[in-house]
Amino acid sequence: MTSQTKYKRILLKLSGEALAGPNGYNIDPAVLEQYSQEIKQVVDLGVEVAIVIGGGNIFRGVSGERSGIDRVQGDYMGMLATVINAMALQSSFEKHGMYTRVMSAIKMEQVCEPYVRRRAVRHLEKGRVVIFAAGTGSPYFTTDTTASLRAIEIEADVVLKGTKVDGVYTADPMKDKSATRYTTITFDDVYEKKLSVMDLTAFTLCQENNLPIIVFNMNTKGSLLRLMQGDDDQGTLIT
Ligand code: UDP
Repeated sequence: MTSQTKYKRILLKLSGEALAGPNGYNIDPAVLEQYSQEIKQVVDLGVEVAIVIGGGNIFRGVSGERSGIDRVQGDYMGMLATVINAMALQSSFEKHGMYTRVMSAIKMEQVCEPYVRRRAVRHLEKGRVVIFAAGTGSPYFTTDTTASLRAIEIEADVVLKGTKVDGVYTADPMKDKSATRYTTITFDDVYEKKLSVMDLTAFTLCQENNLPIIVFNMNTKGSLLRLMQGDDDQGTLIT
């Protein structure tokens, strides 16, 4: 089955904020439903899918700091928020018939497995969707960095950053109507042109380990599937 797909093993990064839908907070069941359908399509094709989910819909360490919560404490709260999102995704994926494991960087044995690289790879080989929760397990990092790190560890072929826009643009398409989308761009060009793709730690990890990134619109129906089928015009490929 995987012979039909461009990538065999992917790491999909989803932001917590996107899970919230138009409300901007909490978890929107409609988004859960849509994500489950999109992901099921590629799992059914035989693609091995690992996911890193953010926590921004619930808590961010930096925002907590502004309201008086110690930064490190707030970052741990943010990491716990990602576990809540991961459990919501797992529940929805299972309803759609996908075998799913949540692996947390912070031990929480009653609710999910601890992250163990070899075990994660084994799950993927067996066709299970693996959701990496609790970020890197360390404060001062982001879930984008977690995505790069885990992708390298599990030897994913690509990091897919699912966003609300369909790729990387020459300028902010919301503000500049003449902005155009790159179909492909190099890591060096992204850096030189100061285009925003991921935070620098996450970005550099991918660059140094020759791990391509694709930025695409997770809200466009079938976009993830088309990317797996080799349609490179679905987003921006960074190599
Ligand atoms: N976080 C952290 N270490 C990590 C990953 C996340 O401390 O390795 C915390 C950090 O406070 C962050 C929050 O968890 O703001 C939620 O993650 P993120 O902001 O990356 O979520 P997203 O923007 O993708 O929803």
